Amino acid sequence: AKLPDWIRSDEYHNSFLIRTDEGLAHARQHSTKQGLPDIAVSAAQGKLLKLLAQSISAKSILEVGTLGGYSTIWLAQALPDDGRLVTLELSQRNAEVAQANINHAGLASKVELIVGNAAETIINLHPEQLFDLAFIDADKQNNKLYFTEAKRLVRKGGVIIVDNVVRGGQVADPAVNEERVEGVRSLLRELKNDSEVDATTIGTVGEKGYDGFLYAVKL
Ligand code: SAM
Repeated sequence: AKLPDWIRSDEYHNSFLIRTDEGLAHARQHSTKQGLPDIAVSAAQGKLLKLLAQSISAKSILEVGTLGGYSTIWLAQALPDDGRLVTLELSQRNAEVAQANINHAGLASKVELIVGNAAETIINLHPEQLFDLAFIDADKQNNKLYFTEAKRLVRKGGVIIVDNVVRGGQVADPAVNEERVEGVRSLLRELKNDSEVDATTIGTVGEKGYDGFLYAVKL
């Protein structure tokens, strides 16, 4: 299928299944206005993240890679009143936009945004209670590190999701030697013999093109 068909298809399905949400719409518009890149998850993917979190009755969520807080808001919407979400972002500027978006969505009391290099800040996380779900969507070169830390930080039976693991098929294309692609490959090699999790990749296609989520359960 050609890309315009994928966009039309997402829009068609979304028109039945995804209600307009002021907080999410504002986050998208404000992020664009502030010049943030258009690399957040799609609406359908954001809703899937929310539903997956709800499926396991998640009360605590870890996110690596906040950008403007779009996926943060989707995930935080899955939380009960006493739920919490910790999100890690390198860029001070992105974090400012994200915090404003999270505040606007009325989710500030549930979300803690930690600014800094997640390769360092994640190592310093020692939560009293382990997380139910981790969503990894930052610098792909560090996927393996983030995944290893997420395993430490997520409870047994908890879920770890990694975005952009297909990259238009580039990950499986031996002719591509890009750093981000290598970051995904090294995670996959690690997972091959990892007995602490069970995982699968599910390809996605839609308004954000052709990519995929890795979904892992901590055993
Ligand atoms: N999860 C967001 C969403 O769907 O709305 C999109 C995240 S965007 C794809 C990746 C983000 O990771 C960017 O905001 C980028 O600044 C951040 N990032 C890149 N390297 C990072 C690092 N070392 N530590 C923390 N965040 C990082």
